[in-house]
Amino acid sequence: MFNINENYLKLPGSYLFSNIGKKVAAYKAENPDRQVISLGIGDVTQPLVPAIIEALHGAVDEMGKAESFHGYAPDLGYEFLRNAIAENDYKARGCNIAADEIFVSDGAKCDSANIQELFSADAKIAVCDPVYPVYVDSNVMAGRTGTYDPSTEVWSDVIYMPCLKDNNFAPELPEKTPDVIYLCFPNNPTGSTITKAQLQEWVDYANKVGAIIIYDAAYEAYISESDVPHSIYECEGARTCAIELRSFSKNAGFTGVRLGFTVIPKELVRGTTALHSLWARRHGTKYNGAPYIIQRAGEAVYSEAGKAQLKEQVGYYMNNAKIIKQGLQEAGYSVSGGVNAPYIWLETPKNMNSWEFFDYLLKNANVVGTPGSGFGPSGEGYFRLTAFGSYENTLEALKRIKSL
Ligand code: PLP
Repeated sequence: MFNINENYLKLPGSYLFSNIGKKVAAYKAENPDRQVISLGIGDVTQPLVPAIIEALHGAVDEMGKAESFHGYAPDLGYEFLRNAIAENDYKARGCNIAADEIFVSDGAKCDSANIQELFSADAKIAVCDPVYPVYVDSNVMAGRTGTYDPSTEVWSDVIYMPCLKDNNFAPELPEKTPDVIYLCFPNNPTGSTITKAQLQEWVDYANKVGAIIIYDAAYEAYISESDVPHSIYECEGARTCAIELRSFSKNAGFTGVRLGFTVIPKELVRGTTALHSLWARRHGTKYNGAPYIIQRAGEAVYSEAGKAQLKEQVGYYMNNAKIIKQGLQEAGYSVSGGVNAPYIWLETPKNMNSWEFFDYLLKNANVVGTPGSGFGPSGEGYFRLTAFGSYENTLEALKRIKSL
């Protein structure tokens, strides 16, 4: 008899953003005259920059001629892109990462969800709380998280590392020893970062206990402070304990284009097995490569024109972040993030919980944000706003919030 994977049935409730979508749709239906501004979902709004558009057009034209047509891409990515990544994201920052340690993919969401296939069924995972939900849910689907307690929103076999105002939204080394540690800096949802010295402590700890760090650096392009590491491989010893995930979504506006990559150094070995070869095997079996056209667009991210145009685009969003952060501070909110990340994390006022504040903001300011509790139990009492809106909408949203 066919049986389904019952682990899927353990996943609680419906997805955070579908709940938000339903509430916003209901409000708009009841109040068709109101202009609702969304500073909620972490999707970009600015168009692709000219250097990328030009590369896309060029690659499309190549595909239209027999002599420059490309079929299946190499499983692990085209060399022109892997070389550009190795040179610009790693060598230029003093990190020792070779092009053949880079696996090109269609984005960091898939990679962050799929990477757990390399771990044993009984591997203990540790996550920050609040957290990007994909890390936990993908492990739930794999049956690795134990039982769920709806009253505490906690999985029995997951090690939670609370990130709260008291610890500056930076996780502390866990009491129980994990096998896999998920870290994301700059952080979604809190917008927090850790210094290179702090990250070095994590690397040293992972090497000491034999754990692996999955380091999600999807927001690396937003770092503005000099002591914040752009890559975990800036830390000594990271080649023996860390996998890094990167995305083109937020640095180059590829959320609808789809491109990312995972780095697995060849020295990352458990027992006698290199994780690099496991992931190469997995990629070769389950993935047929990111499209040629898109990889050419990715290459343009590293061209001189691409770099200059994208610096300006990231600057546009970070100006929004500044407007949000300053505006909220002037209105008396306790706020963090927004300096090295496009996310602003605020404490909900007047003892409102996260969803109560969501409703309050939607009804009274017609502004949509994301309730912190949707990212884990320690997100309760917090709220996330994003800098990905337009400048005009961001200004208007803050004007409304300040006048509440
Ligand atoms: N990792 C984090 C922390 C994210 O916040 C997101 C998207 O919001 C992703 C990964 C997904 O990136 P991609 O668009 O490359 O799948």
